[in-house]
Amino acid sequence: MNRLNLPGPKALALIERDKKVISSSYPRGYPFVMDYGKGVEVWDPDGNRFIDFMAGIAVLSTGHANPRVVKAVQDAAEKFLHISSDFYHEGWIRLSEKLDEIAPFEEGAKTFLTNSGTEAVETAIKLAKFHTRRHNFIGFLGGFHGRTMGSVAFTASKPHYHRGFYPLMPGVTHVPFPDPYHPIFERKPGEDYGERVVRFIEEEIFGHNVPGDEIAGILVEPIQGEGGFLVPPDGFFPALRELCTKYGILLIVDEVQSGMGRTGKWWAIEHFGVEPDIVTSAKGIASGLPLGACIARESVMQWPRGTHGNTYGGNPISCAASLATIELLEEQYLANAAEVGQYTLDALEEIQMRHPSIGMCAARV
Ligand code: PLP
Repeated sequence: MNRLNLPGPKALALIERDKKVISSSYPRGYPFVMDYGKGVEVWDPDGNRFIDFMAGIAVLSTGHANPRVVKAVQDAAEKFLHISSDFYHEGWIRLSEKLDEIAPFEEGAKTFLTNSGTEAVETAIKLAKFHTRRHNFIGFLGGFHGRTMGSVAFTASKPHYHRGFYPLMPGVTHVPFPDPYHPIFERKPGEDYGERVVRFIEEEIFGHNVPGDEIAGILVEPIQGEGGFLVPPDGFFPALRELCTKYGILLIVDEVQSGMGRTGKWWAIEHFGVEPDIVTSAKGIASGLPLGACIARESVMQWPRGTHGNTYGGNPISCAASLATIELLEEQYLANAAEVGQYTLDALEEIQMRHPSIGMCAARV
């Protein structure tokens, strides 16, 4: 077989069967069919071997089939596969205790576990509305927060996420994300571009459109992912935090993609020296098992019994995978991300010195 002639016959046959029965909405970019994976490598059914740079789009935080995660899943599966969230189990409690320990705020944390990132964002939206009794939000152009009816109202990275689905959840006003490489606002002398964007929100949005004291939450990715991996300037989050505190707005950081050790710290927001009120997580939290989390300050996650729930939240297999993942991140992968991140950034900056066509190298490690 010519190994460069991809996809091979077995993969091609599967792709043909897939086309007949699987929703055509998935953005299938590459004709890769997974057979099995180990660490950073994956194999297709024709025996071709690849290095996986995608990691399931930031999901495989411990690599493919990490033996510790696999063992944790096997052990949990032998005990029980499911228990309704009307009941209790230790793995769910231990994971929530761990998330309380690593949450990026001093105050104690309470967690609502979900099946996905979008459900974590939906939970954050509902919690913010419930806690503040307000209905309006600020989101950012270029942001990605999911595809269900609440989260997709914030998603503003590509118009096809909205086309055909109007009306979306009302009450979301989008503002530009502070992209220091493509600034769209004039700055005052010495003004940080992040502070400039926050001044736009206060002066233009609150000043002319939505009253600041009717905003429930500002939902933002600490480092914008799908929008272009944009790192905001240092002044942005401190100014945004100040704005939120001034108007009684909840600062909700969507760490579905940027969190779980990916930047060398548990959460990307930790690089910016501010504490959010709510954090959403998913993707890398359980090495590929379906799990998300809405983690909030305990003073915020105060809602009575029955207000919000789900069938699979706190699933024992996903909790076991997550606990093993967090242990592995703690033991080695957090430090590895910091080291490899710094190495990569240094190397890119060195290349940039030789190639003026490279306009900016940005990252937080
Ligand atoms: N939020 C962010 C920042 C994301 O990157 C994603 C997914 O890519 C989501 C939310 C939605 O997560 P899910 O696809 O698990 O619903």
